[in-house]
Amino acid sequence: MKDVAATCLAFHRLPFWLCLLLLLPAGLRAQPRRNCGAMDHLEQQLQADPGMAYRMRQIEQNTETVAKSAFSGVPDRIVIPVVVHVVYRNEEENISDAQVRSQIRVLNEDFLRENPDSIYTPSEFLSVAAGSGISFQLANRDPQGKPTTGITRRRTHRVAFYSSDNGVKYEAMGGVDPWPTDQYLNIWVCNLGAGVLGYGQFPGGSSETDGVVIGYKYFGTQGPVVAPFNQGRTTTHEVGHWLNLRHIWGDGNCELDDLVDDTPAADRPHHGCETGAESCGGLSMIENFMDYTDDACMNLFTRGQAERMRALFAPTGARRMLLESPGIVVEAPPVAVLPPPARVEVQGVTAQTARVSWPPVAGAEAYRARLRPVGGTQWAERTFSHTFINLTYLQACTPYELEVASVGRGADPAAVSRATFQTTGCAEPVAPTELMAQLQGPDQASLSWRDLPGATGYRLQYKRAGSREVVTRDLQDNTFVVSGLRPGGRYLFRVRAFFGEERGPYSQVESFVAGQPAFVGTHRLEAGGGDYLRLHVQGAQMTVGYDIDEPAPVVIRLLDEQGQPLRTFDPFSVQAGSPFDLDLSGLGAAVRYFSLEDADGFVHLRRLGG
Ligand SMILES: [Zn+2]
Repeated sequence: MKDVAATCLAFHRLPFWLCLLLLLPAGLRAQPRRNCGAMDHLEQQLQADPGMAYRMRQIEQNTETVAKSAFSGVPDRIVIPVVVHVVYRNEEENISDAQVRSQIRVLNEDFLRENPDSIYTPSEFLSVAAGSGISFQLANRDPQGKPTTGITRRRTHRVAFYSSDNGVKYEAMGGVDPWPTDQYLNIWVCNLGAGVLGYGQFPGGSSETDGVVIGYKYFGTQGPVVAPFNQGRTTTHEVGHWLNLRHIWGDGNCELDDLVDDTPAADRPHHGCETGAESCGGLSMIENFMDYTDDACMNLFTRGQAERMRALFAPTGARRMLLESPGIVVEAPPVAVLPPPARVEVQGVTAQTARVSWPPVAGAEAYRARLRPVGGTQWAERTFSHTFINLTYLQACTPYELEVASVGRGADPAAVSRATFQTTGCAEPVAPTELMAQLQGPDQASLSWRDLPGATGYRLQYKRAGSREVVTRDLQDNTFVVSGLRPGGRYLFRVRAFFGEERGPYSQVESFVAGQPAFVGTHRLEAGGGDYLRLHVQGAQMTVGYDIDEPAPVVIRLLDEQGQPLRTFDPFSVQAGSPFDLDLSGLGAAVRYFSLEDADGFVHLRRLGG
C-alpha cells in the first residue's frame, strides 16, 4: 500500500485518487469479500444475556469431557431435521424449492466429506481432513405433526433484515418465528443487509433466536446465487458456527485459537483463494470451511472440528435433543406403483424426423415406446434405457401417434403417456424442375426431371409443336422414354407431381428437336456464348481453359453428331486458372461436341468445328 502511494505521488499528471485506483491490486477494489456476522452477533448476545457466557463455558467443559471419554455416547450418524424459512419481498427473493434442496445437498456433502472438491485438499492437510457423521434432512413433520416439505414461505414488507435486531426471526418484525429450536435447525433465507452473507448463532444462545440466517444470494447453488459465494459454503460456514465452530484464525492474533488442536494457527482471515498463504510461521489452512475464502476455495473440516461439533450430541450435549426430534418420520415405502412418464414431448419435427423426449420416472428401469401413423394398424415398438428417441425415416406430411410406458417393478403396461404429431412436407406442392431430354437415336428420347421429395407419382404430357395431339402418361418414376418421334420435329413437354391425393402445378414447358444432338432444350445447358470455357484443338491435342475458383472434379465427354459419348474422361481435378490438355488421338473427325459436367452436376456443352 505504501509503495503504491509513493508511486502515485511521483505521477504528477494523474489525480492522486485516480492513480491509486489504477494501481491498487484488483483484490482490493471491487472484489466481493466474505463477511460473516456470527462473531458480532455473539458479542451482542453476550452483552444482552448475562447467562450466556456461563452456558458457553458449560458447553466447553462438556466438549473437553467428551473428548477425553472413551465412551462418549455420541451416535456415529447424526441426522438433523431442518426447516428453511423463505422470507421474501419479491419473486427473486422467493427462492425455489430446488434452490433450497441444492443447499441441503451441499451441507450433507461438506459435513460428510463427500464434497467432490475434497480432492483439492492440499496433501499437507489430508491427514486431518475428516467427515463429521452429521447430515441434514428437510423436516417432513411440522411442530403440529402434520406433513411438511420442511420449507415455509412468508412475504414481508421489509427491504432487508439485519443481525443487529434479529428481525427475520420474529413474526412481529416481518420475519417468521422459529419452529422449536431444540427439534429443528431453523434456517432463515432473506435479503440480508449491511454486507453480511449470513450469521449463525452459537450453542448456548437464546432458544428464541437459535438457528442461522443466510442471504438469498448465497444460499444453495442455483437460482439468484452470485459468485464467488454460489456454491453453498456460506451456509456450511454458518452451520459450523451453529455447531460451535469458531473462525479458523480464532478472530485474533497468533495467540488466539479456534479451540481446535489440528487446525494451524493464523492471525487473520484469508480472502479470495490465497493458496500457499502462510501465517504464524506455518501454512494457512485457507481451504477450511471456517475461513473467509471463496466458496470454490473451501473443501474441508478437520477431525478436531468434527469432534467439537459431535460433542454437542453427547447425552450431556447442548444439541442432544435434536436426536429425539419428531420432525423427521421415516415411513415404510408404499407399494411401488410405477407411473408412466408425466408427459411426452415432440420437438424439431421435419418431413422425416422428430425428437421425442419425456421426463424420467423415479424407479423406472426402462421405457417402452411405440409409434404408428394415426389410424394405422401396426405399431413399431422398442424399449429404451434413456428418455429420448430420435425418430428418422418418417413419412412426410403424416400424422403419427406415440405412446410411452414405464418399465420396472410396479409398472402397469397399460398406463401410457401419449403424444401425437404431424410431419411437415405438406406445404404448397411445387412443380418439377430441371427437365431434360436426352436423345437416344433419331426417333427416341429419354425425358427426365428432378425427383421431388414426397412425390408419389408424376403426370407427363408431350406433343409435337403444331400438333393438337397431346400424349398424357401417369408415371411412378421421374424418367420416361418417348419413341416414335418424327426426326427433325420439335417437341414440347411438361410434367406435374402427385403427392398422395394432392396434385402439384405443371412445370414450365421445355422443348427439344428429335434427332438432333443430346442435351437439347434444357436450361442446364450453357451452349454458345460465354468465354469461361475455351477450347483450342491442334492436331490430336485439345487445350481446355475452364475458369474456376477452386480446384474441383469434372467429367468431360467427347460426343458424336448424335450426342453419343465417344470418350469419357472420368472425374479428374481441374486446377483454378490452369489450362489442361486432352488427347484426341484415335477419334478422327467423329467428335462433334465437347461436354463438361461440373461438380454441381451442370453440363456445359460446346459444338466443335463447323
Ligand atoms: Zn463466520
